[in-house]
Amino acid sequence: MTIEFPLVIDGVWREGSKGAGEDVLNPATGDSIGRVAHASTADLDEALEAASRGLREWQAVSPWQRGAVLKDAADRLRADADRIARSITLEQGKPLAEARVEVIRSAEFLEWGGEQARRVAGRTMRGRDAGHRIEVETHPVGVVAAFTPWNFPMALAAKKFAGALGAGCSIICKPSEETPASVLALAKALLEAGVPPAAIAVVFGRPEEVSSYLIPASAVAKITFTGSIPVGKLLAAAAGRVMKPVTMELGGHAPTIVCGDVDPEKAADFLVKAKLTNSGQICLSPTRFFVEESIRERFTARFVEHAKAWRVGDGLDPRTQMGPLANERRVQAISHLVEDARGRGATVAAGGERPGGRGFFYAPTVLTEVPDGAEILRTEPFGPVVPILPFTDEEAMLEQANGLEFGLSAYVFTNDAARQQRLKDRLQFGTIGINDVVTHPPEVPLGGWKESGYGTEGGIEILAPYQKTKFVSVR
Ligand code: NAD
Repeated sequence: MTIEFPLVIDGVWREGSKGAGEDVLNPATGDSIGRVAHASTADLDEALEAASRGLREWQAVSPWQRGAVLKDAADRLRADADRIARSITLEQGKPLAEARVEVIRSAEFLEWGGEQARRVAGRTMRGRDAGHRIEVETHPVGVVAAFTPWNFPMALAAKKFAGALGAGCSIICKPSEETPASVLALAKALLEAGVPPAAIAVVFGRPEEVSSYLIPASAVAKITFTGSIPVGKLLAAAAGRVMKPVTMELGGHAPTIVCGDVDPEKAADFLVKAKLTNSGQICLSPTRFFVEESIRERFTARFVEHAKAWRVGDGLDPRTQMGPLANERRVQAISHLVEDARGRGATVAAGGERPGGRGFFYAPTVLTEVPDGAEILRTEPFGPVVPILPFTDEEAMLEQANGLEFGLSAYVFTNDAARQQRLKDRLQFGTIGINDVVTHPPEVPLGGWKESGYGTEGGIEILAPYQKTKFVSVR
């Protein structure tokens, strides 16, 4: 095989039938680390046929045993964490330590999905009269088509595999072509742990061609996507035309409210790290910093000091605090947002440039005096740039914080209990951090409000998006 990142269909690791593919780049250098195979429609037909067969085979495995298999796969990821973490850093750019955390989080999701598999139950009720019984059965929804992104290439796929496989579904996953290695490692662990080969497929290709082929395919029963709002709307519309259920985990633009009673230096120390994790390429990342005027100067000074000193470099270097952005597209997007703000009169207090040399790097950037019309106030940055927006009037700030179509996450920093309560209640977001910036642990159902998505992933309800019920009336 001449391809480093193959398709996985029916347990066979192989090239696409037409031999098509594309280079996968190391974002720290821009160099190719191998080629990823593209699936043809004939390959997708094979994946669909296998998944229908895999659904029957996997459904026949008891929920208890499904739990054991997922736990085994989780153990395999943990045992191989160092090697997998390196492959994530090579394809995605994040520092090795962050990549390792991602592998462990992925294992936790598989384990959690397996634990919940063991709790799958239906219910029985007495009917309306003697001799009548009602049964409610829980079934796997069917073959799942999953589309996953490049920012947490393993963890965001692991959530979907955990829910789908835990529920007894088979799954065809199309990861980002830019980060194929981590989902292939996930598939390997699951197959070695005993998931039937037909029940898992990993396919790559041109995203719009693959999704427009898989979504209407009669074998597919459920669509799940993590990515941007515009692509989410396209996929949800395609699923709507064939009346298929969707789960959508989309973008955010998190208001991060720093109130005047907190220690501004401590808040800046905490928030700079949260902001620059994964180079800011996190849907939950804090992105619009509303800082109360009384502490604005001290908060900004400390944040800027950190941003300028932050060690940006190759994620394989243990000294690196922030790696490159994942692709050239992100560098262009961030440059555009910064130049737009600068052109409208914003001050670039730190960064604001692409360092010289190779790779997809962009300096940690702080914008102040950002005028109302600046695009960054409306567009999710998904990168290492922060607009600092002073406020004095809480009501006006809240209106601005809630004023976008995003409803994923928001953060409040204050030690005033009444203010914590008031702001938490008023913020129209699915996730709130109080003196905290969150990540997604498997025990929590995470989902966006407004255009940030439909449905949740994780929590005790992790299997629910992949289940359907059957009502049986017995006389
Ligand atoms: P994008 O929306 O083009 O791509 C995101 C993912 O969707 C990629 O994996 C891509 O392969 C896939 N995709 C794109 N078009 C598709 C299609 N028609 N059918 C199926 N899959 C498709 O965005 P991008 O340029 O890669 O990333 C930038 C934006 O994506 C960010 O601004 C952010 O909003 C969003 N994003 C969000 C998350 C998240 O966790 N919610 C993750 C990654 C990206």
